[in-house]
Amino acid sequence: MRSSRILESDLARRRDMRTEVEITVINDRIPGGPETVLGLAKCGPDVAVADEGDYWTDITLDEKDERLPLLLSLLKERGITWIERRRDRFTDEELESARLLAMEYFSPAGSIFAGPRVGTKYDMGKACMRCGAGARQTSAMVVDGQELHVIEGRRAAATCYNDMLVDEKLAGALAQSGATGITFRGVFAAFEGRGHFQLPWRQLCATHTMPPMSPRSTGIEPYKPCTCRRSSFTTPREIPTRLVYRASDLADIRDVNVTWEWFGEVNFNGDVYDSVLPFPLFLVTPKIRRIFRDAGATGFDWIPIRVVDE
Ligand SMILES: [Zn+2]
Repeated sequence: MRSSRILESDLARRRDMRTEVEITVINDRIPGGPETVLGLAKCGPDVAVADEGDYWTDITLDEKDERLPLLLSLLKERGITWIERRRDRFTDEELESARLLAMEYFSPAGSIFAGPRVGTKYDMGKACMRCGAGARQTSAMVVDGQELHVIEGRRAAATCYNDMLVDEKLAGALAQSGATGITFRGVFAAFEGRGHFQLPWRQLCATHTMPPMSPRSTGIEPYKPCTCRRSSFTTPREIPTRLVYRASDLADIRDVNVTWEWFGEVNFNGDVYDSVLPFPLFLVTPKIRRIFRDAGATGFDWIPIRVVDE
């Protein structure tokens, strides 16, 4: 009972948080075009935005907006399928007062290809030999030289394995801030047949791994569960990701941490350099978010963890 009471007060404190629903429809699957349905559902350009090529339309509504059930019933009636995504949105005050924030990278350009298949080295001594969770990086981060346009002009970015990359200046700001739990590695671009070239980027690495999260976490599902129970989790888009930790789990946190759980696709048959490895999520303090924000780094979602006393 005690825990549930604390959960309630935790939710009450977060009353400013709102959940946003994003509905994506393919334009040419709607007879007469998307306007026919959007007009009836009273979804104007303030909430409905088409992509540049006019292939699809994203409609973003608050979970409690009365237009949402109207829109969905109109789509259902017409036999039109859609993709649904739910995300929690927070006020600046909520983000500032969080103990830790999950850092989620998104960019229309995607994430740069990097990791084991590009030449980054790993020690598998303490890793799970079935899924590769716990692989320990032992070299600089190597990224695909053919994909440098993906990070060009950015201050920070993530690789396809959620490795965090920051430009030299942002790395300097992080180092000078006195933030704890950080180490940096070099970043190299690999060009086929021409070797590796160092880039003006640094990889942001965490020295501290969190304990396993509370089973009260929601929006985290086993994807292809491994017997080590450490991988491979996924975050289904229809359910907002809500990470829950016990107060005691936070005793040793630093400014930068990674989760014990490893996420994403896995394809590991013993040969690390021909594998798709899972990866942990980054959990950082509001201090790190402020440094990223002040540097003008964009493309990140910051999701406060929830803390329960159990
Ligand atoms: Zn495993």
